Order: sequence, then C-alpha cells, then structure tokens
Amino acid sequence: MHATADQLNTSVPVQRVRGSDHAYWNEELESMSWPEVERWQAQQIMTMLAPLRARSKLYEQLHAAVPAGLQLRSLADLAALPFTLKDDIRNAQDRSSDTQPFGENQAASLEDIVQALASSGTTGQPLHYALTQRDVDIFTDAIANTWFTSGVRKHDVVAHLVGLPMVAGGLPYADGFRRIGATLCWLGGFPTDRILREMRRLRATALLATTSFGLYLSEQWDAVGRETGVPSKLTKILLGGEPGLNQPEIRERITTGLQTSHLREVMGLGDVIAAMWGECDAQDGMHFNAQKYVALELIDPHSGEAIPWQEGATGEIVYTAFARDATPLIRYRSRDHALVTGVDRCTCGRTSPRIRCIGRTDDMLIYKGMNVFPTSIRDLISERFAGLVEPMMRIWKESKDQVRFDDPIPVDIEAASGLEKLRYAGIVQEIEHEVRTQLQVRIAVTLLDSGSLPRSVYKNSLLAVRGTA
Ligand SMILES: [Zn+2]
Repeated sequence: MHATADQLNTSVPVQRVRGSDHAYWNEELESMSWPEVERWQAQQIMTMLAPLRARSKLYEQLHAAVPAGLQLRSLADLAALPFTLKDDIRNAQDRSSDTQPFGENQAASLEDIVQALASSGTTGQPLHYALTQRDVDIFTDAIANTWFTSGVRKHDVVAHLVGLPMVAGGLPYADGFRRIGATLCWLGGFPTDRILREMRRLRATALLATTSFGLYLSEQWDAVGRETGVPSKLTKILLGGEPGLNQPEIRERITTGLQTSHLREVMGLGDVIAAMWGECDAQDGMHFNAQKYVALELIDPHSGEAIPWQEGATGEIVYTAFARDATPLIRYRSRDHALVTGVDRCTCGRTSPRIRCIGRTDDMLIYKGMNVFPTSIRDLISERFAGLVEPMMRIWKESKDQVRFDDPIPVDIEAASGLEKLRYAGIVQEIEHEVRTQLQVRIAVTLLDSGSLPRSVYKNSLLAVRGTA
C-alpha cells in the first residue's frame, strides 16, 4: 500500500499520490502564467527575509547593509541583495561548534534537524547541508514533481542507481520516487554486474543514473538480457549530473542500447534541491519544477547583471530557496551555465522556463583571451566527427586552478572502435583544424583506442588534472 502525503506529519501542503491519469504533479503552479508565479514568489521572499536575518548569522552579516524597509515587488528587486557564493557557505561552515555543526548558516536548532546532506564535490572538503522535517518534505515534493514531469508514475519499478545515500542524489531522490508511489529499487552501490542482473529480475521499468553510467549500462543491457533470459521491461530513462545529453549521438546510443526512446534529462543542485529540472514529453529542454519553494534568476556570470529569460539567452542560474528552514540560501550562485530553450507555455501545458545546461561557469577555459567551455569543444567534435571518434573525451589541465592556456589545450579523444590506426594522424589534424575554425581555440589532440578512457560510475568529469587522473 502506498503512503499518501496527508499521512505524513507535516505542515507543508503536499500533493496526494498521482495516478497515470493526471497531467501535472501540481496543476495550479505548473500551469499558472510564469509572471504570476514570479509575483507570488517575490511575496514569499519578502515575508521570509526579516525572520531569516534573525535566525541565520550568515545572513545577518551578508545582509547587514540591506535597507530594513526593502520592498520586493518583483524578482527583479532581488538585485538589491548580495549574492551568496559557495565560499560564503564554506566559510560559514568552518565556524562550526558543538551546537552548530553546520556553522553560521545553520538556522535551525539541532533538535529540529533530521538529516545532513553532503555536496558531491570530488575535490576538497565536502560542504554539508541540513534539513528539518519540513525541509525533507519540501525536497521530497519538489523532487517528486521533477520525476513526474519526466514521466515517472506510481506503477513504475524504478532502479535508483546513485550509490551514496548522503549525497543529494541519494536519499532525497529515493524519497521522491516513493512520494510518487513508484516501487523504489535502490540498486546504486552494488557492483555493476549485480545492478544489471537485478534490474532484469526486478522487471525495472525506469532507471535513474548519471549520464556516463547510463551510457555504460546501454553497452551491457543486451548481453545481460541474454544471460538472465528475462526480457527488458525498461521504458523510461532518467539521466543527469553531466551535460552529455546535449549531444544527439549520446542520446541515440543510450536509447538504442536500452531499447526505449523515453530518455529525459534531469538536473538539480544539492545545495538547493537535488532535482528541480526535468524534461517533459516535448524533450525541448528541462522544465523548472520547484517553483513552489525556489525562485530563479539568470545572470551574466562576469557582471552579475540580470539577463532576461528569453529563448536563446545564456547565463548562470541563481537560486533563492525561500522555504528553507535549516540551511537557507538567498541568491545562491549555482555556477551552472544554461541555455534557455523556451519560456512560453510548452506543448505539455507547463509554463516554467526550459533550459539545457551547457557547462559550469567555473569550468570555462581561456585560450589566449578567448573563452571556451569544455563542453563546447566536446559537442563540436562529437557532432562533426561522429562515426570516427567516440563521444568520450578528456581535457587536461596542469593544475586544478588552471583557467588560462597559452599553448594548445590538450584533449584526449577515443577513436571509434574499428577505426584503422593509419587514419589516426589525419583525423587528429582535421579535428584540430575544425576546433580552431569554429571556436577560435587551439587544441592538441591525442587519439586513443576505443575504450581507453575511464567510464566512472558517479561523475565523469570532462576536465582532468595531470597527475590526479
Ligand atoms: Zn513541457
């Protein structure tokens, strides 16, 4: 029997479990005109600002210069408030104590905190975020909304393939699937051959994984079917965590290998809510699904100026989590660089903006004064040289902090399987020429045999640092 939302002890107005006959998780907010949603959000932020300063030392300090009578008539008025940077959170966390283990951004008492989440950062000390029961309910509702937009329903058997419960994509994702009423099969963390076998035996109809792991599974799916003798029931694939799904070739390989065309990209930010964006049936970018709890801004990453939400616009996404008890975030810079693919009402009826994530603003490289995203290099090469090279690549930096390159940027690329070695040198030249012509950036390509680059299970970073990978 499925638990319904109103069996939970919560003050958050959450939705009942939705059956397959519903088009939306939260019809009112998902179909309301977007300017109206934004006006409502501005009111919510307005009401929470003063109490926030009283309970968060971080915001008492960050907002010390903000006029007490500040009026927020629209989200544009948020420009009067400073941004919150990851370093602000890091510094606040460094000032922790026995009663404030989350540091000066801990805005709820330990008695009320029920969960800690860790950032998935692979370098440096992880950041921790805290959730009260109300925060957990809000996370769960927004994440369930995202899964629902991406097609997950209560009859689904979902293979959840993120292996770490404490990261935002662990337990919170699991909660989201259960809130929908789907059957959660948390296989993440088991060895890959066991994951594959159990997915067949449990008749998984949906899976959630990182893009690189989805790609890896797609290469094995057919063989495991022959081994187990259980026909595939998989009809829905949800992938994210890496920007590879902007490449049609990667999408095609995954849908061919997993034998279903229902592939949806999903995205969130552990610090804010672990899943907030998800593609609908239109597959024209990811809708925002956390409008009940989080407001959005799009900014120029260099100047910090607002960029209007228009189709074709690009910028960094800034989040304000206006319904957050334990570790609040106001104007939090995500460093996620997005391309806006739609702002008008979608064919699915939803009104929230749609985006594709085109990279991390802090991944941006500079070659002799020219800005370039590693993902732009990869997307160009895998599109123009499809069939000759694999879409797996690695771009090398000399140190973690290197942004500027005066010499050509080193890029490892895998040759397509079966490509004759004799052709390698010619293809390297062609790739380098194409990138120079299209992106005004020089790269130095090393062409490797197919299968030589690591397919990591959790995060497959396009950028690597010499001596560490
Ligand atoms: Zn849509």
